[in-house]
Amino acid sequence: MKGRAVTEHSVLYWNRATRDVNAVVREETPPGLRLLLIESDDPAEARARLAETEFLLIADWALTAADLEGAPRLRMVQHQGVGYERIDVAALAARKIPLCLCPAGTATGVGEHTMTLILAVLKQVVLAHNALVQGQWLQWTLRPLTRDLEGKTLGLLGFGRTGRATAQRALGFGVRLLACDPYIALTPEERARFGGVELVSRERLLRESDVVVCHVPLTDETRHMVNGAFLAQMKPTAYLINISRGGVVDQDALVEALRQRRIAGAGLDVFTPEPLSPGHPLTTLDNVVLTPHVGAGTLDAFRTKMRFALGNIRRVVQGEPPLERVAGT
Ligand code: NAD
Repeated sequence: MKGRAVTEHSVLYWNRATRDVNAVVREETPPGLRLLLIESDDPAEARARLAETEFLLIADWALTAADLEGAPRLRMVQHQGVGYERIDVAALAARKIPLCLCPAGTATGVGEHTMTLILAVLKQVVLAHNALVQGQWLQWTLRPLTRDLEGKTLGLLGFGRTGRATAQRALGFGVRLLACDPYIALTPEERARFGGVELVSRERLLRESDVVVCHVPLTDETRHMVNGAFLAQMKPTAYLINISRGGVVDQDALVEALRQRRIAGAGLDVFTPEPLSPGHPLTTLDNVVLTPHVGAGTLDAFRTKMRFALGNIRRVVQGEPPLERVAGT
């Protein structure tokens, strides 16, 4: 409106994203918010941006107490995802700065990507593709090496948002569902909604599952939960899918188990460290399918996330309480 000053609130995208990704964030930024982007690799630029911003939109970079000292105007940290183990929650809490998560967009992306990994590794899609483009026709070679999903038992470690998103999709493939999550209870209605899913002990899940999927957050309790002993409890014909965090898996133990065919294969979206180093032993195996942490990374999921995340920041600008605030912040 002519003659009337509009106050704009600065939002820093705490990420060195590609030009195309930044363009999407820009398109989804509502009026009243001024988007700040980090467009060089110079750490001084990132620090300077941090000093001026009121709101941080965070992706997978860490946020340390030292970073926060450089952000005197900060009012809120909005995550574009849900896994926040690299954010110093205590430092935020000390300044009463809310940390808010963004479940929107995540569950669909992760549910669909989990099914992609499961099917790709059971059907050896990547091996078949790579061989074919190099002139090898593996029609008969692949027959004894590939499996159907129908009739198999799917074991979900963690039955929160993403675990349920996978369950919902897997049921269409005719699986039996088991879940291990000591922190929840399911009503009979919830069990019925997920095809009669049974909540079981980790031991039973590992003993009975043909596909084991990690859907747990990375915590002190879950770090290296998938170790040699865990893998030894899985069936030799079973597959491991990790779509949660790399740290949940002892990668060296997994490489050994895959090399020795103590399990049939793995589909992995997350690693330690990321990016996975070129030539890492995992990249030399023929019974794995690897993706670069893209679980909830489609354009559709990203737009949904940006709408929710930037909308949540706008709520705070308008004096409303933010949604999805992490307890204690
Ligand atoms: P959520 O909080 O909704 O669910 C996690 C579940 O794990 C909870 O029900 C919790 O009780 C359970 N849990 C915790 N510790 C456990 C244990 N020791 N054993 C069994 N269950 C346990 O979280 P979510 O939205 O389902 O996301 C899970 C994790 O997935 C996130 O923390 C994040 O790290 C990861 N994630 C990865 C991607 C990706 O792109 N690959 C995307 C989104 C989320």
